[in-house]
Amino acid sequence: MKSKYAWIMDSLAKTSFSTKARAMRHFLIGKKEYLRRKKTRADMDSVIKCALCPNMCKFDCPVLAAEKNDAMSPSGKTRIAYFIETDRLNSQDAIELMYKCAGCDACMQWCPFDFSVGDILKGVREDIAGMSLAPPRIIKIKENLEKNHTIHERKYDKSTDGKGDVLYFMGCEVSSERGEIADSMTKIFEGAGEKYVLLKDEWCCASPFINLGFTDEFKKFAEHNVKAIEESGCRTMVCSCPTCTYVFRHIYPQFGFEIKARVMHTSEYLLRLMENKKMAKAIEKECVYHDPCALIRKLGLEEEPRKIAKRAGMKIKETYFNRKDTKCCGMGCSLGSTNPDIASKMADARLEELKKQSDCIVTACPTCNTTFRKGGVEVYDISEIVLKAWEKA
Ligand code: SF4
Ligand code: SF4
Repeated sequence: MKSKYAWIMDSLAKTSFSTKARAMRHFLIGKKEYLRRKKTRADMDSVIKCALCPNMCKFDCPVLAAEKNDAMSPSGKTRIAYFIETDRLNSQDAIELMYKCAGCDACMQWCPFDFSVGDILKGVREDIAGMSLAPPRIIKIKENLEKNHTIHERKYDKSTDGKGDVLYFMGCEVSSERGEIADSMTKIFEGAGEKYVLLKDEWCCASPFINLGFTDEFKKFAEHNVKAIEESGCRTMVCSCPTCTYVFRHIYPQFGFEIKARVMHTSEYLLRLMENKKMAKAIEKECVYHDPCALIRKLGLEEEPRKIAKRAGMKIKETYFNRKDTKCCGMGCSLGSTNPDIASKMADARLEELKKQSDCIVTACPTCNTTFRKGGVEVYDISEIVLKAWEKA
């Protein structure tokens, strides 16, 4: 990708000083004139800048690509957000639009302001919830999570007694759909001689609450989780889900919840282990790697999963949209629950692209894993790869 600032720098260089001064004057007057002074949870400065931008990022937004509706572009959404936030609009369609985002940060790769529209919209949704305008199905998602403590029904029934050095936080997707990932991780911990803990009643990291604007509920879950993590006695906490890792590492502290243990994604923990143990080239086949959005764009973990797969003998093929240019599997930011039709179109588009490279996909996110499996391909989580390489050594 060309430097993301190049297009704006080129056009600024060609613009005369008087035009720039006039534009700036209009912007400042417009900002004063049209922004009503009202206390909002949303960052209105960002909402306005994005709403007024030339919108270069829209070509990369997977929601816009799936729905082919310009209102769903990043700035399409912030324009409507601006009208909601200034009490000019509260139609059902406008409110619904605020939930049509995967929080994937593809827009951020192009944005001259480095905006994450996904993050901007979280504040807008918080205001929507505060104005009691959240759609009933969004309230239902919140109520279900409050009641069940996990996004899906927990099917994984293994847990441990007592305290340990390493806490494995499997996350809602593993506990419901991808139990084999938890099995791989526990076998790896046992092989490594780690005293590990699996919580009996693991609660969701609470990312859906923060995604959908329910801060009080987020805080309640965060308080519970911090206590459970502390009681486990762990010094390291390993998460399979990139979103859990990001939320524990970066969002909890923003709300005053500090986790004393070191929070690691499995790709970080497993690569370190691989470097210290003898591993065999157990899976000598060609596979394509899918970068999960939260892992690459929120945590910056690019090489770790690739190195793990290569050390286990895999030949990793790359797609055109790889690394920071990855495409979301559709399940980001609770989109799979709030807008399953859009999420499913995004999953199909990404899967079609990956399948051009290989019918064997490696990923490092349990949710991407489940999504791609529905497309009838072979999918490996990095934990399964490490276990095979270790068992064969
Ligand atoms: S996200 Fe950035 S590039 Fe995209 S419309 Fe908003 S301000 Fe412009
Ligand atoms: S975060 Fe992703 S889905 Fe949301 S507006 Fe940006 S590119 Fe589109």
